[in-house]
Amino acid sequence: MRIIIIGAGVIGTAIARELSRYETDVVLLEKTADVANGTSKANSGIIHAGYNADFNTLKGKLNVKSNPVFDKLCADLKVPFKRIGSFVVGFNEQDLKELKKKKENGEKNGLNNLEIIGRKQLISQEPNINKNAKYALYAPEAAIISPYELTIAYADNAVINGAQVVLNTEVYDLYFEDGKISGVKTNQGEIKADLVINAAGLYSDKIAGMANDEFKINPRKGEYHLFDKEYGDIVNHILFPMPAKNSKGILVLPTVHGNILIGPNAYDTNDKDELSTTNKGLDEILKGARRLIPEIPEKGIITSFSGLRAALDSGDFHIDFSKNKGGLINIIGIQSPGLSSTPAISEMVVQMVKDYSNSEKYNLKLKKDFKQENPKLPHYYEYEEKEKVDEWQKIVKENEDYGEIICRCEHVSRGEIIDAINSPVPAQTIDGIKRRTRASSGRCQAGFCGPRLLKILSDQLDIDPLQVSKKGSGSQILKARSKQLILEKTKQDKKAGDQ
Ligand SMILES: Cc1cc2nc3c(=O)[nH]c(=O)nc-3n(C[C@H](O)[C@H](O)[C@H](O)COP(=O)(O)OP(=O)(O)OC[C@H]3O[C@@H](n4cnc5c(N)ncnc54)[C@H](O)[C@@H]3O)c2cc1C
Repeated sequence: MRIIIIGAGVIGTAIARELSRYETDVVLLEKTADVANGTSKANSGIIHAGYNADFNTLKGKLNVKSNPVFDKLCADLKVPFKRIGSFVVGFNEQDLKELKKKKENGEKNGLNNLEIIGRKQLISQEPNINKNAKYALYAPEAAIISPYELTIAYADNAVINGAQVVLNTEVYDLYFEDGKISGVKTNQGEIKADLVINAAGLYSDKIAGMANDEFKINPRKGEYHLFDKEYGDIVNHILFPMPAKNSKGILVLPTVHGNILIGPNAYDTNDKDELSTTNKGLDEILKGARRLIPEIPEKGIITSFSGLRAALDSGDFHIDFSKNKGGLINIIGIQSPGLSSTPAISEMVVQMVKDYSNSEKYNLKLKKDFKQENPKLPHYYEYEEKEKVDEWQKIVKENEDYGEIICRCEHVSRGEIIDAINSPVPAQTIDGIKRRTRASSGRCQAGFCGPRLLKILSDQLDIDPLQVSKKGSGSQILKARSKQLILEKTKQDKKAGDQ
C-alpha cells in the first residue's frame, strides 16, 4: 500500500514517522527545498500544558494527551526540550477571576498540578517581572522545544525507517478512480497512491478543494523578536499575559538554546506566503512584552521574524476523511497547539489509516526492526563545560573536522555542518544547515560564517558556489563571479566610451 503525505511540516513528518512503523510504502511530498519550511519553523516553540483549550474541542483533547509524551520522544529523537513551566500573569481581581476559570478548565482536562500563586512567590521565581503583577496561574507541565529541530528529527527518523521524503515537489492536483484516490499530480510528474494524507498547513484547504471538500483557512500573522543569549537569563519560565481576543497574547520566554523570544501579535491577512515584519508590529510586541518584563533591552534584539497561523472559522482542528472521495484524509486548521499535539495527532491519523487499510484489505503490519531512536551526533555546544572538554578532545582526535569552529557565535564546527549535509534528510541550503546545527543563528546572523558555509555546501554537494541558496530555488546567495562582473563592467565602460 502506498501512502502519500502532502506537506513536510511538523504534522506531516510526525505522521510519516508514525507510519514508518508499519510495512508500507510512505512517501512525504514537500514543495519547498527542506522540511520545516512552513509554519513549523516560525512559532513560539511551546509544548502547552493543556489548560487553555476546552476539553470538548479536538485540540484540547489532543494537546492534553500529547504533553506527557514529549520527554521520551525528545530523548529518542535527540531534540532539545526543557520542561520549564509557565505563568499566566494577572494584574488585578478581574484577571484573578479569569485565572481561576483557566485553572478549572485545566483541571477538567486532567491537569492536577495547576496552582494560582501570589505576587511574592511570582517575584521569587521571576525577579524581573513587572512589579504590578499580582497573581499567576502556574503550569509546571508547560515546556519549550525547538520546533524545527523536532520536525527535522521526525523526518530523519521516518527516513531511517524506510519512508521517502521528496523535496521540491508540489502537488497541484489529485486524481481519482471510481470515487477513490488514485494518485497525485506534481511538478515532477504523477505519483500513484492508495491513500493520501493532506497535511499542507496553510494550503490544506486548497488540497481538500481538489476533492471538492470545502474549507477556508484564514491566515493570521504573528511577529517575533529574538534576543541575544547575553540576555537569556532575563526570564526563567514561559510568561503569558492574560489572553487577547484571537490569540494567547504577547509572551516572553526563553528558548531551548538560551535566547529570549518575545511575541507574537495577531493580524488577519489574505496572503499565505507574506512573512514580512513591520515597524508597527514589532513596536507592538516590544510594548506588549514590557508589560510583563519592563526592562527588556531593545539593543539585545538579533533578529525578527513572523509566522502564519492556519486558522479555520471553528477555531478547532479538523481531522477526518474526505466527505466526497475515498482514501483522502484532511488535516486542516492546525493552529496552536498544533506543535504540542503532534504525538496524538499522528496516533489518531495512523489509526484512521489502519481502519481504511483494513476496509480495503491491505492490513498494515508492524515492522519488526523499527528504529525508535535517532543517532546521537556530536554538538560542540553540549561539551563546552569544563568537565566535558576532554570528551570533546577525544571526538576531535577521531575526526579533526570537529576541531574547526565555523560559526563563532554558536560555536559550530565543520564536522557538525558536514553531518547535517549527510543526514537522512540532508541539509542542502544555508537555512537547512542553520536549523540542523545553529550555524548562522547567533548574534552576527551569518556575517562571519555565511561565506564559509557556502563554501562547505558547494564542496560537499559538489555544486557550483553560484548554485548555493539560502532556502532553495530563487534564493541563490551569489549573483556572479567577480571576474565575470569585472569583465561585464569593462565591456559596459568600453561601450559607453565608444558612444
Ligand atoms: C505565530 C505562531 C505561534 C505558534 N505557537 C505555537 C506554540 O507555541 N505551540 C504550539 O503547539 N503550536 C504553536 N503554533 C502552531 C504550530 O506552529 C502549527 O500548528 C504547526 O506548525 C502546523 O504544522 P503543519 O505541519 O500543519 O504546517 P506547516 O509547517 O506549514 O507545514 C505544511 C507544509 O506543507 C507544504 N505544502 C503546502 N502545500 C503543498 C503542496 N501543494 N505540495 C507539497 N507541499 C505543500 C508547505 O510548504 C509546508 O512545508 C503557532 C503558530 C504560529 C503561526
